[in-house]
Parts: sequence; structure tokens; C-alpha cells
Amino acid sequence: MNKVILLIMDGLGDRPIKELGDKTPLEAAHTPHLDALASRGICGVQNALGVGQRPGSDTSHLAILGYDPEKYYTGRGTIEVAGLGMDLEPGDVALRGNLGTVDDHLVTVDRRAGRLSDTGPFVKDLDGLTYEGVTLHIKPGTGHRAGVILRGPGLSSKISDNDPHEVGVKVHEVRPLDDSPEAAFTAKVLNYFLHRAHEILKNHPLNKERQKEGKPPANYLLCRGAGYYKKIEKFSERYGLKACAIAGGGLYKGIGAFTGMQVLPVPGATGMANTDLDAKFAAALKALATDFDFAFVHIKAADAFGEDGDFRGKKAFIEKIDAAAKVLLDLPDTLIVITGDHSTPCALKKHSGDPVPLIMVGDGAVRTDHVKEFGERACATGGLGRLTGLMIMPEIINLLGRAPLIGD
Ligand code: ZN
Repeated sequence: MNKVILLIMDGLGDRPIKELGDKTPLEAAHTPHLDALASRGICGVQNALGVGQRPGSDTSHLAILGYDPEKYYTGRGTIEVAGLGMDLEPGDVALRGNLGTVDDHLVTVDRRAGRLSDTGPFVKDLDGLTYEGVTLHIKPGTGHRAGVILRGPGLSSKISDNDPHEVGVKVHEVRPLDDSPEAAFTAKVLNYFLHRAHEILKNHPLNKERQKEGKPPANYLLCRGAGYYKKIEKFSERYGLKACAIAGGGLYKGIGAFTGMQVLPVPGATGMANTDLDAKFAAALKALATDFDFAFVHIKAADAFGEDGDFRGKKAFIEKIDAAAKVLLDLPDTLIVITGDHSTPCALKKHSGDPVPLIMVGDGAVRTDHVKEFGERACATGGLGRLTGLMIMPEIINLLGRAPLIGD
């Protein structure tokens, strides 16, 4: 066995729901294929960041892939810009950007500039601005979004957002979040760029056109989630497994790119409930049959249903995943690992620290246990016990028979 597929269903875990007969959406869902895999595998539960810790999706994925968030996570910006295909260099500070609309008093009117469909023509006029030895690199993301990198000596990610996260209030000045000269310098530089960007965008010919058409002008760059980039060992170098990532959501493509995986484009992968699950599994199987040893497949929508409190939608979506997961039943020579990144209980409508189920299936390699069902409580009784995210990759490497000997 020398191939691995790691399937992460975002926000998978939940709590018992009265209307579902005190079952969780996963327990209530009809999941014959996932149950068959649980029967063939060894099961457990895992807390990505540790017992009782409430993970973000970014930190939980890093931990599951074996990258300690304490060491590698400094903010979401670095992961998001990696997902846009922007190359990061050590010392860069990266942020998530939006083009929004402000009035003459810098009060936000629309944080998404009327859901602008493409920031490309606007941000190309900002890309390459320089100030005090720092260069602004900016690239369009989807819709109203953009990736922002500050590159130069003496930068820090300990800076606040200028995005006020609401309309009707003045955009914030970027502030240093600690007493270091680097944070003060970075805040000063970014404030300068934001001011220059506003001057350029305000007078942009496309904004003059938008205003004539009665559309809100894309006249302000809103930034958030600053992260500091430190060199990170590529997944393939760390584990000796050539890896690819298959995801619809930008953050998860970013996780793949950030850890040096090849992000495979899959038409129809949207990161939403309408995603083409069959296309994603087909892409993963093809990748494993050809160039790759490790396929990370991310499926987002269960988390969104949890955040909406829609337990029926969550259950139905899990059943859709199960139907598509049928193709995993006949995968030769492949370790199949299925889990979530965290729980998103419908009753809470937010991430929680409840553990999520985990199964590892590898015929002949795993000590099959008595668990016959892929569910939170069934898996909690299985042979893997309760793991943290950082324990998952070492266990995968062990099951592949590749763990280094410690001692003699
Ligand atoms: Zn998540």
C-alpha cells in the first residue's frame, strides 16, 4: 500500500438533535458506503487542535496535515494568497483584500462594491506600488476579492485590519498590535498604500463608468487577516509523498498551495452545496492512478449547513457525499482516511471543540475494530481512540510502513 486519499468533510461533527431522534446529522444520515468503510477500517475520533479547543478551518487543516499551527500559522492572509497562486517569500506579510465602496468621508457604503465580479482591471493599477523599500503585490481573487502581499525588509503581521467588517462606519486606520518597531513600520506602510490606492481607484476610468451606470465604485481596498510568511517544508519533502489538493473553496486550495501540494483544478468544484462531488472523487482517483501518492480532498458544504443551523440540509448533504464516496470501496493499494476538520453543531451555528469521527481503511494494514458505522459516537468506541490532528499524519506514515525507527 503506497497511496493515500485523505477526505476532509468540513464542519462534519455535530451534537444530538431532538428532531433527528437524538442523533447527529451524520448518525441520522443514510450512509451505506461510509459505514462499509468504517466496518473495513479502524475508527476513532479526533480533535484537530486538542481536547476542547475550537479550531478555525485554517488551523485545523494545518494540524491534520502535520503542520503545527503554533509554528506555521500567523494569520489567514498567507494561506489565502497562496491559494491565488501568489508566490510567497520569507518575510512577506500577506492579507486578504476586498474592493469596497466608501463615500467622501471614507465611510463604507458597500464592502463588496456591488458584488464586483472582477477586481483585475482595478488592482493591476495598484500592483507594484512602492514605499520606504516595501513593494505592494496584489492579484485578483474571485469576485470582489484580491490577494495582497507586502514585500520588503522589517515587516510584521502584528497589525490590525482596516476593514471595519460593517457598512456605515469609517474605514479603520491600520494599527500596530504590539510594541515592535516592525509592527509600527508595517502599519505606516500599509496605511500609505491604502491611501494611494484610494486616490488611484477614485479616479479610475472604470469607476467613472460604474458611477454613470449607477453602480457603486470600487474605490477602496479593505484588508484583513495579516499573516507573516516563514518558509515551510513542502508536504512531498516532509513525507516523501507527492501530493495534490482537490477543493472548491479558496481557503482549502490555499492550504494545498501553502503546504506545497499541487492544486488540481476541477470544473464544477464550487465549495458549496451544488459542488460536483463525482468530479472531485474522479479527479482524486485519476491523480492517484497517475502522478500522485497522496490526494487531499476537501468538501465544504456540511459546515455551511451547520452554520445555518440547517440539520436537515446537513444530513441530506452528508448522504450526497456518501453516494459519491461509493467509488472509494474498490480502491486498490490505497489507505483511505476520512474525517472532518472540526464540528459545526447546528444548535450552535458555529465551530465547536467537539471531536470528529475518523476512519482509516487499508486492507491488511489496519487492525479492524468492531465499529460498523461512520458516526460520532460509534467511532468514539473504535481502535484509534481519541487523537489530535498532529497525530494523524504520523499514523498514516506508520500504516504505510514508512515510519522511521527511533533508536536501534
Ligand atoms: Zn472548517
